[in-house]
Amino acid sequence: MSKNAFSNLSLKPDLLSNLTTMGYEEMTPIQAQSLPHILAGKDVIAQGKTGSGKTAAFGLGLLDHLNVKRFRIQSLVLCPTRELADQVAKEIRKLARAIHNIKVLTLCGGMPFGPQIGSLEHGAHIIVGTPGRVEEHLRKGFLSLDDLNLLVLDEADRMLEMGFQDALDAITDAAPVDRQTLLFSATYPKQIESIASRIMHKPVMVKVESTH
Ligand code: ADP
Ligand code: MG
Repeated sequence: MSKNAFSNLSLKPDLLSNLTTMGYEEMTPIQAQSLPHILAGKDVIAQGKTGSGKTAAFGLGLLDHLNVKRFRIQSLVLCPTRELADQVAKEIRKLARAIHNIKVLTLCGGMPFGPQIGSLEHGAHIIVGTPGRVEEHLRKGFLSLDDLNLLVLDEADRMLEMGFQDALDAITDAAPVDRQTLLFSATYPKQIESIASRIMHKPVMVKVESTH
């Protein structure tokens, strides 16, 4: 068996067999380097360029941790734009196909507020959203992160470039301190180093140059 086979990981069998169905045969380098730490519950900072497979790295981590019977928000993924949030939600739903009744909800700016409140009242396991809108739902009391065990910052460098620093701080302040935090970024500027030192606990650093 290849050393980068997904089956070398301690993933739930349903997730593993679905990866085969999806045609994912081997882990990409960033998945191979980050997933063992992610599955072990560690905080991870992963740097890798576009197309390196970062979504499945955190997506498999959050789905493996998830308790479907507990209908509470257990994971939150923050993305810089609605387009990216929609793509991430789509990939998570695909990765989750073998697990029944998983509810993934997107909360993005530029979308009407009312329907999102209705969806939050119905509940979800996983939220994927943009920082401004997620912060607004938190501040207005429509969203609680009391049961959150995994927080993901996807494309963290872009979120900071777009001025989401304050929203990110407010969101991390509202999440339980003992949560796991994963940070994905294409670059690693000083601003990322600084936010990581504030919101992460002894992060493992993973850096991959190539995509394959
Ligand atoms: P990134 O977020 O790093 O830019 P994505 O997570 O969007 O990259 O992944 C890029 C593409 O690679 C997607 O089309 C995804 O479905 C595919 N992909 C990810 N992991 C694997 C894998 N292990 N095997 C095959 N394809 C993969
Ligand atoms: Mg990505």
